Amino acid sequence: MNQKQIIAQELNSSQSALSNIDFKSGQTFKGQGEFLLEFFPRLLKELPETQHHNSFKVQWECFSWIDVLPTGQEQYRLKIKALTTIPLTCQRCLDDSLQNIEVNSQFILLNTQDEVDDFPLENDDEDALLNAYEFNLFDLIEDELLLALPLVPKHADQNCQKHLINTVEQSDTQFEENVDLIDPKTGKLNPFLQLKKLKLN
Ligand SMILES: [Zn+2]
Repeated sequence: MNQKQIIAQELNSSQSALSNIDFKSGQTFKGQGEFLLEFFPRLLKELPETQHHNSFKVQWECFSWIDVLPTGQEQYRLKIKALTTIPLTCQRCLDDSLQNIEVNSQFILLNTQDEVDDFPLENDDEDALLNAYEFNLFDLIEDELLLALPLVPKHADQNCQKHLINTVEQSDTQFEENVDLIDPKTGKLNPFLQLKKLKLN
């Protein structure tokens, strides 16, 4: 597969420039830059409220290219990278925990919704998206960051209060069972909730 040799257009690192890119123009694009986290309201919602005023940043990079198949058919592809470090609530001790969030995604931009629907889900290298004259790359960067969030954010063991205090001798699996017994105010196991669970059992 050959790559079509054309000079990529430079993208400005502004929300308006990235929200409206004509990927159907036959041109290719590249760009990189940095945004304050407050530009991404859906991502900001995932942070502990005490942290919303902080100036966390998201670094982003993207480039697109056109592959030419032996048949002459052209395939439009897009690569996105993004990186940020944000505090999330540790699900073990309920304190804030800085987490690195990293995106490295590749897409093929297809011309019809049918082609997108037929694209094999089990493809690990890339996902399919509908190509557009006004493609919103900015929203896609936020979508991908949200997808990259850890399902259960946790401190590393050596940084977690809960792990250090270790009030009750228990394995991680027991912890998962007891997660609903933790008092959100103290972050410690609530003996009354524990009793209630015993009674229920
Ligand atoms: Zn923790």
